[in-house]
Amino acid sequence: MQESKTRSIPISLPSMGQEEWEILKKPIESGWITQGPFVAEFERLFAVRHNVKHAIAVSNCTTALHLALLALGIGEGDEVIVPAFTWVATANAVLYCRAKPILVDIDISTFNIDINKIEKVITPQTKAIIPVHLFGLCADVPAIRNKFPWLKVVEDGACAAGAGINSLPAGSLGHIGCFSFHPRKSVTTGEGGMLTTNDDELAEKLNRLRNHGASVSEEQRHKGPRPYILPAFEIVGYNYRMTDLQGAVGVVQLKKLDAFIEERNYWATYYTENLSKIKWLKTPYIPEGYKHGWQSYVLLIDEAKSPMKRNELMEYLQQKGISTRPGTHAVHMLDVYKRMFGYCEDDFPNAKTANNCSIAIPLHNRMTKEDYEHVVESFISLKK
Ligand SMILES: *Cc1c(COP(=O)(O)O)cnc(C)c1O
Repeated sequence: MQESKTRSIPISLPSMGQEEWEILKKPIESGWITQGPFVAEFERLFAVRHNVKHAIAVSNCTTALHLALLALGIGEGDEVIVPAFTWVATANAVLYCRAKPILVDIDISTFNIDINKIEKVITPQTKAIIPVHLFGLCADVPAIRNKFPWLKVVEDGACAAGAGINSLPAGSLGHIGCFSFHPRKSVTTGEGGMLTTNDDELAEKLNRLRNHGASVSEEQRHKGPRPYILPAFEIVGYNYRMTDLQGAVGVVQLKKLDAFIEERNYWATYYTENLSKIKWLKTPYIPEGYKHGWQSYVLLIDEAKSPMKRNELMEYLQQKGISTRPGTHAVHMLDVYKRMFGYCEDDFPNAKTANNCSIAIPLHNRMTKEDYEHVVESFISLKK
């Protein structure tokens, strides 16, 4: 009892150390701290790991999603399909382009978009779809591309660095992939994002869009023969660049990605073995052949059978020093989306259930065996 009073397990904690500290000295000493050689190296390594031709670093995954839609030509009057249960950024990116997000309910067993509910929302205006690899489990993008070959597919892989389906990594499944390096994700650069594509033309567009629309990067210009000639500007771009400080940290973090996932996978399996014995808890389902990225470990509570409601459970665990969060939120239940589109809670019943009954429990690379055991024991003591 005494131990649980002092124990404090955060929901997530970045794993950084001496190597990140050391590499940061390099851009600081060289003086090149905006997008430069470390961002380029981070991009190269990320492209190799995710088996894509191009990786383009940006300031975060939200800006990645924005640029992905712009590069695909999404604009006013277009409709873009988005799952109803995802972080709000997925839908917001569609609004940034003045297009309309069209929500589709999720499959409650995977928390990802329900493929069988896509067809009935398709209209002549539907231009693209953003399947989300929620919590690190890939959405079935191959099936989506098969069924709707004319749709542009942007993967929201914010949680899915290193995840995949069979031999296909996240980020190589759609036309463009988007990733996040926010501290809640498995590898982090503080803030940060990455775009992936196999299409040379899209890569060139994304490269310009992130850098004010400039035809060449600052590094190329400054290190080229005529640094005094400003580049051409043929399109309206943005400043969505990643700094070289972040790029340097990214290079080190990316090298640890597979080890991080492996460790998370070990403890996720431990959680599932122990928690699946509790009848009112549903542990994460992983379809055959999928490699989970384990950004987070999310349970679903059957409130009809559980001794307490989800929010009471979160409070109970908080008292035990275990921090938890809802998996994520349902977009149609957020005030701004209700106001803009007039949604009712029951429009997307699975997203509503996930919104109200999901719980993410701690899973990260700075937890000890005792931490994991404490989480399991705290659930087991509730079993009756
Ligand atoms: C974290 C997250 C984002 C946003 O990523 P940022 O890098 O914070 O902009 C978008 N979509 C999903 C599904 C996320 O989990």
